[in-house]
Amino acid sequence: MAGEDVEGFVRKTALKNALGYGKAQVPAVIGKVLSRFPELKSDMKKLSAQVSGIVKEVNSMSAAQLKKASAEHAEEFKSEDRKRAEKSAQHNLELKGAVAGNFMTRFPPEPNGYMQIGHAKAAWTEREAADMYKGSMALYFDDTNPEKERQEFVDAIRKDFKWLGIRYDTEYFASDNVAQLYRYAEKLIEMGKAYVCQCAPEEMKEQRMRGVGCRHKRQKPPKNMEMWRDMLDGAKGSEGMVLRLGANLKDDNTSMRDPTLFRIKAMEHYRQGSAYRVWPTYMFNTPIIDSMMGVTDVIRSKEFELVDEPYLHILTLLKLRKPRIHSIARLEIKDNLTSKRKINELIGRGLLWGYDDPRLVTIAGLRRRGVLPAAIKSFVTRFGMSKSESRVGIDMLLAENRKLIDREAKRLFFVEKPMRVVVRDIPEGARDVKLRLHPSSDMGHRRYRLSSEFFINSYDANKLTKGDQIRFKDAFSIRVKALDGNMISAEYVPEGGNDIARVQWVNEGNYIPCKTYNVSSLLVGEEFNNESLVVKEGYVESHAESMSVGEIAQFERVGFFKLDSKSDMGFISL
Ligand SMILES: [Zn+2]
Repeated sequence: MAGEDVEGFVRKTALKNALGYGKAQVPAVIGKVLSRFPELKSDMKKLSAQVSGIVKEVNSMSAAQLKKASAEHAEEFKSEDRKRAEKSAQHNLELKGAVAGNFMTRFPPEPNGYMQIGHAKAAWTEREAADMYKGSMALYFDDTNPEKERQEFVDAIRKDFKWLGIRYDTEYFASDNVAQLYRYAEKLIEMGKAYVCQCAPEEMKEQRMRGVGCRHKRQKPPKNMEMWRDMLDGAKGSEGMVLRLGANLKDDNTSMRDPTLFRIKAMEHYRQGSAYRVWPTYMFNTPIIDSMMGVTDVIRSKEFELVDEPYLHILTLLKLRKPRIHSIARLEIKDNLTSKRKINELIGRGLLWGYDDPRLVTIAGLRRRGVLPAAIKSFVTRFGMSKSESRVGIDMLLAENRKLIDREAKRLFFVEKPMRVVVRDIPEGARDVKLRLHPSSDMGHRRYRLSSEFFINSYDANKLTKGDQIRFKDAFSIRVKALDGNMISAEYVPEGGNDIARVQWVNEGNYIPCKTYNVSSLLVGEEFNNESLVVKEGYVESHAESMSVGEIAQFERVGFFKLDSKSDMGFISL
């Protein structure tokens, strides 16, 4: 390598080091240079002197000079960072046996409820795996239970994906493939690997527990085929028939104890109407549809480990291609609920507003609360492919979110339990105020023409006695003349000291009544927390009228709030 190349490389490395860490460090730069030009080891003294000189020069630059000097390398630096990020993601997401360029995975929701944060983790992991292995990701609706599934949930899941910014390459439905699934069922019957059972559900449970087969298990294929046709035709006497896998009722894995593959559900399906009365269970349709659609790698959470065996067993019997199965840990949120049954029960009892209640960790609930998709992504991806169960509080997510919204949230004054303060002697010149909407970002101002009456928080007012001075934040100071429990009379103080308490205030004629919905843990232990949503009433400055639903503001000294409804000026705490 020519000498000038080395110097250029040293300079570039020092610049990058300084950009990344504030100051460039001689040993770090030397390390990089040596791995690029190992032959320089022979004269370390020379190299060390050269690097020190350049590092010194780079470290003396101002931020602007540094930026200017590294402009020509900007693209290169960016691509290096990207490569490093990809490499570290790869490390977290390594899927054993997965092949780059020949990769397809899927996210398999059943459209019988709303997505929650744990699903977002799985979906993001799948998307990232698809990108990393240069493949695709499908959204696969596992919809073979007409009893519980609805178009409303399909739409909600699509909407959540869009809002979260998770792209999928294709979309398909299990229910579009029922006819094909029937053919595979018939194959198993012909092979003597599936039988029609008409035992009562309790009997089946008992058989599985005791490890004994029923009389139906001994039926020959022609008899099973005849009964299967009866199931499909809705023949008299077919009630209660199910098709079961003929596996092993003594298997250590309970999922292998002759699971049900098809059952009769003669009711309207949201997508297929009344085309079918016999529906597969996910035990059957999942392996076959994964295989049919070209899924190469299934990423599923650990609690489904037991069903891997029947999944692979069914594919073996039918001689279908088997996807690889990878395990990730489930993400669980402490003191919250994801069980559809329990959420429905709370909705039914009027304790929750619906699936988008801001106390829930459904995607709809988090959206309504004002949590940004970027905060959710950063929260869930930090658990990556971790194999250990994560059971974490929502606080970390909210802290992440606050970091993001802090830069953009307008600052407003909110007064709870308002106490009236009358200041009659405000000079004309002090009656027009201009308050910054953000302390550091340039977001403009709110302006008010002040009347003589104000409101402050009772908790501020209660501390005052006659003669005390306080400052109306960003306006002027006052001195208390009289208090009578309902009202404070005060006088204008042109010059207030720096050490006096500053309080939030609103002005008569420049405020609107509002409500705040203060959210805390949904559960205490296993029980519903009756204090999980506390409603408070107060006054917010009238600038809030210009906010749109969904917008977030910081009520100074109180916290961040998202405007949820304009009709009652309802704000949800973040
Ligand atoms: Zn039976």
